[in-house]
Amino acid sequence: MSEFVFDRIALIGFGLIGSSIARAARAKGVVREISGTARSEKTRARVRELGIADKVAETPAQAVEGAELVIVCVPVGASGAIAREIAPHLAPGAIVTDVGSVKSSVIADMEPHIPDGCFLVPGHPIAGTEQSGPDAGFAELFTNRWCILTPGEKASPEAVEKLTRFWQALGSDVEIMEAGHHDLVLAITSHIPHLIAYNIVGTVADLEADTRSEVIKYSASGFRDFTRIAASDPAMWRDVFLANKDAVLEMLGRFSEDLSGLQRAIRRGDSETLEELFTRTRDVRRKVIDAGQETAEPDFGRIRAISPETD
Ligand code: NAP
Repeated sequence: MSEFVFDRIALIGFGLIGSSIARAARAKGVVREISGTARSEKTRARVRELGIADKVAETPAQAVEGAELVIVCVPVGASGAIAREIAPHLAPGAIVTDVGSVKSSVIADMEPHIPDGCFLVPGHPIAGTEQSGPDAGFAELFTNRWCILTPGEKASPEAVEKLTRFWQALGSDVEIMEAGHHDLVLAITSHIPHLIAYNIVGTVADLEADTRSEVIKYSASGFRDFTRIAASDPAMWRDVFLANKDAVLEMLGRFSEDLSGLQRAIRRGDSETLEELFTRTRDVRRKVIDAGQETAEPDFGRIRAISPETD
């Protein structure tokens, strides 16, 4: 029996996530063969140059031929069109998954196209950076990170089990979740933080040129960390907010109420409220570190990351 989890996989999209899956699957010997494609000739050529796939096809239809697992790694708004395009070309019994940051919309868009005898098991690796494109990926991206699977009507227990083994082999811990619940949780842990970053950096961008240069000059005092998040891929995040509209608006409502509370506390000089909140939030940070989701190093470990030894 083969030691590979899958014999042949196909990747549709070779950005940060797709190219990291290719690198990790190869580095860890998880699959025998990787085929794939990307929308532009530029990215396809770069994937060939990097040598991170065995076969680079011109179209998604060609890429999925004979693949046991197809992983759609494109912005969530494009996943329905990809599903429609690949459906007639899927091998019997193929498992189709994705890596999109929103799950209910992906199920609604992809599921109707999945033919009988094939299985859809949507997924979301909770791992990423603000970089995009095939050069941004790296094999360790998923190590000790969660991957959430949200199986719907077109899944089977066997398909879920096999995809779980695949992500575990890439280094991830796998959790099964209902798609709507995933979207609500991610709205507050990922989508709203990105919205806040886009908003604060946008506010700065709209300031007078003079002020802006001051802000950039003194950016180490907090603003810099927002600029990192706000540098994330515009198309990907546009799609996330459009696709997760309800959950984001729900969480944004709560966030706005809490912000108004803080505004009131500052206006009234209510030091107790401010200190009580800031103490609780410090505790949340400690729990995140204890859960292995962050390092306790000062400055997010950044000093070490830019030291000459690692540069
Ligand atoms: P990325 O680096 O920007 O790569 C996106 C890929 O999708 C590229 O290959 C691009 O092709 C292709 N693409 C873009 N628009 C397309 C369209 N309309 N039709 C077909 N292909 C299209 O993005 P990524 O960071 O890998 O994100 C991919 C997915 O992973 C997204 O759904 C995102 O929500 C999810 N995700 C991202 C992160 C993260 O931190 N970045 C984390 C977890 C999950 P070209 O290169 O040819 O333009």
